[in-house]
Amino acid sequence: MITRFAPSPTGPLHLGHAFSALAAYDMARAAGGQFLLRIEDIDQTRARTEWEAQIYDDLHWLGIVWPEPVMRQSTRGAAYRAVLKDLFQNGFLYGCACNRRDILAAASAPQEGVEPPTGPDGILYPGTCRGTETALLPPGTPGIAHRLDMARAAMGSYAFTETGEGPNGESGEITFSAEAAVALLGDIVLARRDGFVAYHLAVVLDDAAQGITHVVRGQDLFEATRIHVVLQRLLGLPTPIYHHHRLIRDDQGKRLAKRDDARALAKYRTDGATPADIKRMIGL
Ligand code: GLU
Repeated sequence: MITRFAPSPTGPLHLGHAFSALAAYDMARAAGGQFLLRIEDIDQTRARTEWEAQIYDDLHWLGIVWPEPVMRQSTRGAAYRAVLKDLFQNGFLYGCACNRRDILAAASAPQEGVEPPTGPDGILYPGTCRGTETALLPPGTPGIAHRLDMARAAMGSYAFTETGEGPNGESGEITFSAEAAVALLGDIVLARRDGFVAYHLAVVLDDAAQGITHVVRGQDLFEATRIHVVLQRLLGLPTPIYHHHRLIRDDQGKRLAKRDDARALAKYRTDGATPADIKRMIGL
């Protein structure tokens, strides 16, 4: 068994991260497996080395250890670009010049007043650029995003094993059809307009490159797992077992976010909390 914790160094780790990291670490240890760390610093406009240093410090403080070197997404550009090029050449990707406003306008147009359908990444792309001149612009073209042509990419039926629980109690063997992938996920972005590879593609390639067998992460990523499973099939990569865990919420029942600096591990540490206190707070 190989598990991982994959934080983005864009803010302080909070109690939710501690829960996720400890869950992945404990699962690997209980099975005599291995726990890996991966720094998801793909968005170089938001990632900071200071946050990365703080991540190492906080995790060590919690008693978590991992083998070096740590995989960092910022070093994986060549691998991501090679896959994007390949997918584009095989007709699975198309260029898209739409910004958020364009997408909202096009998606709302057919039925005024009716909420447009959404997927894991927000409003489903209405297909504006599909089949246009823009669609033919290759990955790497400035200002152009690249989307997966889901109707071409999805085929047959899909399945993955969930050993945790989705937000609606989904567990066990989760299956869905190619038609469902088109309807629920849409033409997701794999290369962003700002030139960075999208999370969905990076996570799938990195989990495979690190040989991750069990992905342990928060329930908020359960729906996105369908995207990952479609991409794994398309790219000939194995589908790991997924374990989505409950989210740590604040006193108002709201999910913790990076901006909740008040609940940063570092804050609890300076206030004198011990790792045992943290574990108690998150119910471990
Ligand atoms: N980097 C993601 C985050 O910090 C984690 C993604 C994952 O675990 O798949 O939310």
